[in-house]
Amino acid sequence: MRNLWKDDATAGLDDLALLAHRSRLIGAEPALVLRGGGNTSLKRDETDFRGRGVRVLRIKGSGSDLASIGAGDFPGLRLDDLEALRARRTMDDQEMVDWLLRCLVDPQSPRPSIETLLHAFLPHTHVDHTHADAVLALTDTVDPRRHVEAAFGADAAFVPYRRPGLRLAQEVALAVGDAPQARAAVLEKHGLITWGADARSCYDATIAMVSRAETFVAGQSRGAAVFGALVRPPRPPAERRAVAARIAPRLRGLIAGRDAAVARVVLRFDDADDILDFAGREAAPQMALAGPATPDHLMYTRARPLVVTPPEGPLDAAAALERLGASLEKDLAKYTAWSEVYVRKHGGAGGAAVDARPRVVLVPGLGMFTAWKDAHHARMTADVYHHAIAVMQGAQAIGEYRSLDLKDCHDIEYWPLELYRMSMAPPPRELSGRVALVTGAARGIGRGIALRLASEGCHIVATDLDRDGVDSLAAQIEALHGPGRAIGMAADITDEAAVGGLFDAAALAYGGVDVIVSNAGIAHVSPIETMELADWKRSFDVNATGHFLVARAAIRQMKAQGIGGSLIFIASKNVLAPGKDFGAYSASKAAQTQLARILAIENGAAGVRVNLINPDAIFQDSGLWSQALREERARAHGIRADELEEFYRRRNLLGIRVTAEDVAEAALWLASDRSSRTTGCILTVDGGVREAFPR
Ligand code: ZN
Repeated sequence: MRNLWKDDATAGLDDLALLAHRSRLIGAEPALVLRGGGNTSLKRDETDFRGRGVRVLRIKGSGSDLASIGAGDFPGLRLDDLEALRARRTMDDQEMVDWLLRCLVDPQSPRPSIETLLHAFLPHTHVDHTHADAVLALTDTVDPRRHVEAAFGADAAFVPYRRPGLRLAQEVALAVGDAPQARAAVLEKHGLITWGADARSCYDATIAMVSRAETFVAGQSRGAAVFGALVRPPRPPAERRAVAARIAPRLRGLIAGRDAAVARVVLRFDDADDILDFAGREAAPQMALAGPATPDHLMYTRARPLVVTPPEGPLDAAAALERLGASLEKDLAKYTAWSEVYVRKHGGAGGAAVDARPRVVLVPGLGMFTAWKDAHHARMTADVYHHAIAVMQGAQAIGEYRSLDLKDCHDIEYWPLELYRMSMAPPPRELSGRVALVTGAARGIGRGIALRLASEGCHIVATDLDRDGVDSLAAQIEALHGPGRAIGMAADITDEAAVGGLFDAAALAYGGVDVIVSNAGIAHVSPIETMELADWKRSFDVNATGHFLVARAAIRQMKAQGIGGSLIFIASKNVLAPGKDFGAYSASKAAQTQLARILAIENGAAGVRVNLINPDAIFQDSGLWSQALREERARAHGIRADELEEFYRRRNLLGIRVTAEDVAEAALWLASDRSSRTTGCILTVDGGVREAFPR
């Protein structure tokens, strides 16, 4: 474990800034803490609101991440009031939380970490608490005390497993008090606590102890053989990705279920070497069931992953894919049955409130899917499982991996404080856990719709010929709504293989699609008499065939998911009220409209809704309304090009300008379950154009 401390980076920092600095160094190393995990603290003298001197514990706030924490993210608690709990016999968790809140120096500050008392009861000024992989490898074994003593001798106090809370904090304080030589406490199946008189020595102690654990584990290592023989070698990379793209939608649909009240999940595929090696080993199914390495991992991975048994041999033939899909279904049903028993056996009332679906799905030879409410959480779950494998590997190397039993898991997973922490997350948005593929997304209507759907929680696969345009859109969505929320793909929707690639990418990144916004279009202006055949054909390629290719691939993927879907076609007022010199555009858009209606007829039984939006005269940031088109249309109406927008505004019944945001509102409604009774419909967003009323 590398020591990242540099004195010149800390010159002139006050003690709170130093605490934040040290915390970020710890947070930067995933083998010490995973995102959001671990906590750090400082005890110091402060002055309270009445000017009295008071001893204060500054500790990481609940919900902060050590990797990005700032000096303002450490709520202060009066130590005297915390220490009053040191001798307290019993206290339920809610009482403890209420107590902590009453100790806050500033009632407005963020809630303190639920591990606050671990820090408060230790006499040391600076305290670090981490969940380091190498330390877990020592403690997640059949005989943890022996391995901890072998690695650390008298330098560490060993504390048997107990769920975090008042009692654990008291036991840690007693164990440390009984071991005057100790420089650290090792908490069985949980992690490490270190301390120091100043920020640097505390950090140094953390790194030194973890390094010793790493050296000890490495000295015992028997290599990958700790998981037995490789009985299911990885399939070739191209086959893995092709099969994952085909199977992910089915898995996503099975996990989501058909119950509309159950939240959708997004799926993320991961076929890194450590995953493939672990999943393919003889002992993997048994190891995977042995439980998470620490309570911190449990909150991401749940108590067990789902391990699927794939058919033998190559997986990409149709028959093998079918057999793999059947295995997924069977194994998921077994998992669900197990999960129900787990909750019933160990839990009391209220247990059913926790999502009982698997978050980690291992397919030997293929890779791992992680499934959660959004791409960011699916990614974090994957990160955690990589570390879980590292811990199991270390533990197997020095002994036999042994972890939290199911009762322990249940007590953590259904712990009111954890449930509370989870409930602090922002409430789900209307399209949370859903995925939309938007074509022609670089500008205008497509971009406006992508941004609006994303603002309601949707994940976006944005595509366009304009690579820079979709890349900047994806970056904008991620900046607004968080990492993983959008991918940009340059693609020509008239190219069958490229369209296939879009849906494969959607399946690998998110598990499939729920919404299609088929928007890409071109507008060619010419009287038919003088029109070139190539211009006619190009209009049909983009405005008709492109929509056919996207819709066909969408229907196939949605049927594999089996949870319905919504196809939204951006058509045109021209379909119902064509104008002269607009023949190639109007005829090809009419073909698109008829395509949509046929799709509605053919796919209603599968719960796939297909609707059209007829906008009119959306000029803003439009790729359609080129200067040439403006001039042509102005000529056709007998006005100047700069009068065109005003001409269109006055022409509609409401006398109103229509924007991309207006179209996006209509698309949002059609994408959402609020329009669940609507299919085969044309929704106008044109300010009211009498000759273009749908009929
Ligand atoms: Zn902890």
